Amino acid sequence: MKRTIYLKFLLGYAIFGIFSYVLIATYVPDMLTRYFVHEESSSLYQEAVLIADTYASKLYTSEISLETVKEQLNALTVFLDADIWILNPSGRMVLDSAHPVDIEEVQIVEGFDPAGVAGSYYVIGNFFDYFDTTKLTVMAPIMSNYQINGYVVIHSDYSSILDSCYSLQGAIYLCFGILFLLSLIILIFFTGFVYIPLRKITKATEQYATGNYHYELQPDSSDEIGYLASILSYMASEIARSEDDQKKFVANVSHDFRSPLTSIRGYLEAMLDGTIPPELHEKYLRIVLNETERLTKLTNGLLQLNNLNTKGLLLDKTHFGINKVIRDTAASFEGTCQKKNIKLQLLLTGDEMLVHADMGKIQQVLYNLLDNAIKFSHMDSNIKIETTEKKNKLHISVKDYGIGIPKDEIKLVWDRFYKSDASRGKDKKGTGLGLAITKEIMQSHGENINVISTQGAGSEFIFTLPISEKMEEM
Ligand code: ATP
Ligand code: MG
Repeated sequence: MKRTIYLKFLLGYAIFGIFSYVLIATYVPDMLTRYFVHEESSSLYQEAVLIADTYASKLYTSEISLETVKEQLNALTVFLDADIWILNPSGRMVLDSAHPVDIEEVQIVEGFDPAGVAGSYYVIGNFFDYFDTTKLTVMAPIMSNYQINGYVVIHSDYSSILDSCYSLQGAIYLCFGILFLLSLIILIFFTGFVYIPLRKITKATEQYATGNYHYELQPDSSDEIGYLASILSYMASEIARSEDDQKKFVANVSHDFRSPLTSIRGYLEAMLDGTIPPELHEKYLRIVLNETERLTKLTNGLLQLNNLNTKGLLLDKTHFGINKVIRDTAASFEGTCQKKNIKLQLLLTGDEMLVHADMGKIQQVLYNLLDNAIKFSHMDSNIKIETTEKKNKLHISVKDYGIGIPKDEIKLVWDRFYKSDASRGKDKKGTGLGLAITKEIMQSHGENINVISTQGAGSEFIFTLPISEKMEEM
């Protein structure tokens, strides 16, 4: 399995790290140096201006001696960690805080040109080649009577400024490194909450794709990914269930087709080889005919169920009088009822009761229910068909006082091919599809059908139909 999401995430993480590092390495040193130079030079310049305005100008007006000024500047030199000079405009050194005053030895800064420093209050360099190392130098003119008498010059070591920059830069890199490592927590979260559950889901879908619908996928969180996992696992269980149903269905179909075919074949063979004498042929041919009728019924039922399934809601709904339909269906069973001496009672509300449904299909529902009721009724009993009106719905009940359905089998009567053991013995022609078709028809109408039954006492099947709005106009 390709682990692309994880690789992509790692790649994104690495790119984030590299970009941030490059950005910091490009801008931070420059920014820091500029900041430190600015800070240092402006504070030195303020000192230089102060000295120029006080001791230095007093020196030029001979108010104080060179020694006094030197003493004062010595303290400042230590405090500022810098060299303080007083220079004449010509470049002759009047005072150097780093060296004792020596009037004999005249020190001159060769090539000193104040204009070279003009324009900025600081310069970085070796001060007209005077030093071997790089210095940050500030210069303040010593004025009196609008004339420049000399300059206060302060030199600070540029390398010590760079050192401060480097140490701060180091701290920044360290912070970045720690932050980068801390952001690994996101990666850990991603791995735990997204990547691993996603891998489990992928593994499960691979199993489902190969047909292993019983593979267990446990959602381990209640977030979107957990929801996805539970939906997938539900989907798989549904597919597994429908696959099982399918297998059961095919097994039932083949079984129900095989038994009549076996008996047809058995009788025909027996007739051909003379086991059944010719005078009995008619009797057995009738049995064979019966069996073929059963096969036809079975095939028709299956075709019908299939059509109901595929067409679903394709119903030919009309507004029709249900009372007439019930009476007609009941009439068609007159002969069968007479044989068993069963009395059909019709308790119908209203002279005419219009409902909105597919008339042919509802007729079939009534036919199936009545057929069952008669089939599973005892001799000399009653069957009641009753309609009642409740909140825009018509409840139609078909009630018999026959064998009833065992409690734990009530749920199963709607299944295709289901026939209770009792009925298997009694009714050999039944396919077990009648109620499945009935349920399918009611479902496609969006209506309900229910059964109340007590074993040995009888059963009542009740279904609903929408009362036609045309009833109000009547
Ligand atoms: P077919 O309808 O194809 O002739 P069937 O009647 O056996 O066959 P269904 O109508 O689907 O099939 O009924 C399924 C089973 O439910 C029946 O075999 C019977 O066991 C039980 N059953 C249905 N109606 C009743 C009833 N009124 N009383 C007792 N049992 C019933
Ligand atoms: Mg039936």
